[in-house]
Amino acid sequence: MPKSTLSTAEVIEMLNLVADRIIEAEPMLSEADRNLGDGDHGLGMKRGMEAVKEKLAAGAENIEKAFSNTGMAMMSSMGGASGAIFGTFWRAGGKTLAGKDQFDAEGLASLIKGGLDSVMARGGAKPGDKTMIDALHPASLKAAEVASQSLPDAAQAVAQAAVDGRDASKAMIATMGRAKTLGEQSIGHPDAGACSVAVIFQAMSDYISA
Ligand code: ADP
Ligand code: MG
Repeated sequence: MPKSTLSTAEVIEMLNLVADRIIEAEPMLSEADRNLGDGDHGLGMKRGMEAVKEKLAAGAENIEKAFSNTGMAMMSSMGGASGAIFGTFWRAGGKTLAGKDQFDAEGLASLIKGGLDSVMARGGAKPGDKTMIDALHPASLKAAEVASQSLPDAAQAVAQAAVDGRDASKAMIATMGRAKTLGEQSIGHPDAGACSVAVIFQAMSDYISA
């Protein structure tokens, strides 16, 4: 049954599916980072998501904490740029849901916007720099556009926007992170962090639609 809103327990289940999907995607994420970076993105994300599962096994007080605990677990267990970046995304995004006891399409939009704004402020990258922002930014715009639709429809549209953003990152020239030394040679491959964002939103949509 597609879910019109999620309780805290359901948000935790959804985040566990996100973690499982990232762990399964480790070879693909490693390959993406081998093409453009140092090849450690898949293992870093896998380690981060194992820590998330461990943390969430203890439950969470509310929806805000379920997301922010996810971010804290990633920050404290991963090295590299992406520990700080993905950790910031979940933590700052989660903060926008303070006081909410149901997660709906408006919550999805505020999670993504809050997370994106904080990642951009912290990391200094902007759309077009060939980073995870190139999947996150179109996902955020789409989430705002569909915030009045049902949660399953909104989540599916957001997942598609993230996939399209990931694909669009192939044509971009990297100007941030390790890949920037490749310059024009970075054209043709998707950004590894954008691949992770696509996996994350697809997993969220699959949980919500199931
Ligand atoms: P590292 O670059 O330290 O090896 P990872 O390989 O885990 O870390 O993560 C690389 C990913 O981090 C890139 O693919 C990109 O999406 C993301 N990234 C790097 N720098 C930034 C930044 N300043 N803002 C947003 N995302 C970034
Ligand atoms: Mg790397």
